[in-house]
Amino acid sequence: MIKVENLSKKFNDNEVLKSISLQIQRGEVVSIIGPSGSGKTTLLRCLNLLETPSAGSLQINQVHVAFTGKAPSKKQKTDIRQYSGMVFQHFHLFPHKTVIENIIEAPLIAQKRDKREVIAEAEALLAKVGLLAHKDQYPEQLSGGQKQRAAIARILALKPDLLLFDEPTSALDPELVGEVLTVIQELAREGQTMVIVTHEMDFARDVSDRVIFIDGGHIVEQGKPEDIFTRPTEVRTQQFLQKVL
Ligand code: ATP
Repeated sequence: MIKVENLSKKFNDNEVLKSISLQIQRGEVVSIIGPSGSGKTTLLRCLNLLETPSAGSLQINQVHVAFTGKAPSKKQKTDIRQYSGMVFQHFHLFPHKTVIENIIEAPLIAQKRDKREVIAEAEALLAKVGLLAHKDQYPEQLSGGQKQRAAIARILALKPDLLLFDEPTSALDPELVGEVLTVIQELAREGQTMVIVTHEMDFARDVSDRVIFIDGGHIVEQGKPEDIFTRPTEVRTQQFLQKVL
């Protein structure tokens, strides 16, 4: 479903991703872990073309983009993003719209879908993330965990094949982390394809089919969570896990 080949990303002279290659199958849940500054978020953003890779290529479903240093065209961005949605650390909800208005905006305006159908789907999604009772509130009236669950419902309304999570719980108070992780876990059970950048090691272990450890812009090691967390083969992975577990 996703194929990344020799993908590199430079910010000026700083090469943050160094020839990354990886494939992700439909239904797979992949967590990306690694030290601060290792390139996790940059890799995730490259998958959605929020960053322009300097070299290499990206394929999602039938859309293939090769990078030569130039910004991708608007069409290439639209083609890639039709399949993927990103959940950000800081929610990115529209502050002046209610929860349900946030959710119906893109299906109505960008996808030009039928209003009654879109509202019914939005209400079902809000029930799924436990927010139906809050549908007419504004983001500022919600807790961080509720905001993040609303942000997840908003992305789900676009029915993306691929969900990208950029540290979805790192802006939350500790007692609100669980309610967001539970929603992500439920999506994993339903077979949603997901790539999750996270510092929550227990969560990565529980939810993932595969864990990728990145350091210095390289994939150092990847494998099943039980292998990566209990018997990592690379010294750098062992050193990182000793610090964080
Ligand atoms: P963290 O766990 O702290 O979020 P990370 O592994 O996600 O870190 P990235 O955010 O991908 O790391 O950053 C990797 C490197 O790229 C860092 O050195 C960072 O300073 C640099 N970087 C990221 N975004 C930019 C940018 N827009 N301009 C310049 N440098 C950037």
